[in-house]
Amino acid sequence: MNMQLPYRIVLVQTSHPGNIGAAARAMKTMGITDLVLVSPERFPDAQATARASGADDVLANARVVDSLVEAIGDCGLVMGASARLRSLPWPTVDPRQAAAIMADHRDDGAAVVFGPEQSGLDNEHLARCHQLVHIPANPDYSSLNLAQAVQVVCYELRMASLPLSTGVERERRLASATEVERFHTHLEEVLAETGFLNPDHPKQLLLRLRRLFNRAQLDDNEVNILRGILSTVDPRRRR
Ligand code: SAH
Repeated sequence: MNMQLPYRIVLVQTSHPGNIGAAARAMKTMGITDLVLVSPERFPDAQATARASGADDVLANARVVDSLVEAIGDCGLVMGASARLRSLPWPTVDPRQAAAIMADHRDDGAAVVFGPEQSGLDNEHLARCHQLVHIPANPDYSSLNLAQAVQVVCYELRMASLPLSTGVERERRLASATEVERFHTHLEEVLAETGFLNPDHPKQLLLRLRRLFNRAQLDDNEVNILRGILSTVDPRRRR
């Protein structure tokens, strides 16, 4: 699915141009293209282009600005990616939670800010972030490469934006509640007729069957098949 996501990635004072290129590539693979660079040490740069490897359009469209405030001026929601959990407790979420929150605010302008390789985001930067995003890595070795951190966050942003998939690619219209209700009534009648259903204790079995069929999320075609089977085995019809 070719789906562009409206999120902004901000890289603050990046030292290695290679990381900028790799971050651009990480973004583009996830359908995110809005890149803003705050005072990068070297940019544009051949290393950035080499590591972008086909995501040079993201680099070409990247805006370079002097301050974080400028980078996020038009954003409603700003998340700061941090490798360390801070001594001053700051509201912190993991990338999955961050992606869900950002999906809620995608029309308000939502950005994730990443810090410099050596030092990470400083307090001045953090003060501009509504929440921190921390990738829950090995506590003894929690600092990911900048572009790899960008990849993890952008992956979660994409996952949060994909329509829920059942893993089955087919044109299916889920059966309506009324159709499903008729099926269960029919099933109950047939089970009672065959003697499988104990009329003194019908509840548990019927509930379990409902749970089973709800899990399957029947489509209308499947309901028709099941009702056809019920009609065929219905003892009332055989008599
Ligand atoms: N030495 C720095 C790490 C900088 S890594 C420090 O201790 O803060 C460069 C940037 O990648 C970080 O500023 C952050 O934005 C991102 N990053 C790296 N590891 C991360 C993690 N585990 N969770 C969230 N962001 C991370």
